[in-house]
Amino acid sequence: MKRPLYKRILLKLSGEVLTGEGDYGIDPAVIRSIAQEVKEVKKLGVEIAIVIGGGNIFRGIAASASGMDRVSADYMGMLATVMNGVALQDSLEKIHVHTRVQTAIEMREVAEPYIRRRAIRHLEKGRVVIFAGGTGNPYFTTDTAASLRAMEIGANVILKATKVDGVYDADPLLHKDAHKYDELTYLDVLKKRLKVMDATAISLSMDNKIPIIVFNLKKRGNVKRVVLGEKVGTKVKG
Ligand code: UDP
Repeated sequence: MKRPLYKRILLKLSGEVLTGEGDYGIDPAVIRSIAQEVKEVKKLGVEIAIVIGGGNIFRGIAASASGMDRVSADYMGMLATVMNGVALQDSLEKIHVHTRVQTAIEMREVAEPYIRRRAIRHLEKGRVVIFAGGTGNPYFTTDTAASLRAMEIGANVILKATKVDGVYDADPLLHKDAHKYDELTYLDVLKKRLKVMDATAISLSMDNKIPIIVFNLKKRGNVKRVVLGEKVGTKVKG
């Protein structure tokens, strides 16, 4: 039997992957299937932390473009990530995966506050930890939160889930001849302005040498394939 390549992973789920075919909210079938994938990876003995986005509900930058104060809009975006986090926790616990949600914005009735040492302890005990609330700061994104939390908990890799097979030189949904990269360096991503994660997240990962694997979450079993070291998606490294 193949053994997992990583002991501890940080899975970044953007809000977009929760919508399924729609473009808003949470598709119950999709979130159930994500929970199932997480359970399968857990069975391999891998410790799993998840950073969840909120773009399926609210995006600060879009709201500020239509006149709202950016900071207020960003706080609403962060609150949206908490909703997604609680939804994912519900799906995981329904299939008996012990889960904790930790939020960067305190709301004790809903979730634990983010406490690094406590998060690590949960992981060691085999619980899946969902990080919500992004970094807790406006003007940031949950991609940056993913890089930051990955460093803090000592994850071996960031798995960035998307709806396409990896990183392309053009949008594969719009351009049929778009070329997929198997490997890239952090600098390639920054120089070519490739849409992997935002620049802050990439530089943070580069400075701390944590690899990022961008893969298609819509293909069943892909998280497990990545964890087992199969060539899936695009790997970004130094
Ligand atoms: N956000 C923020 N600070 C953070 C993380 C998120 O202000 O550290 C806000 C921001 O407005 C963002 C929204 O939360 O638009 C949702 O997060 P994001 O866009 O990263 O979610 P995703 O694209 O992953 O669904």
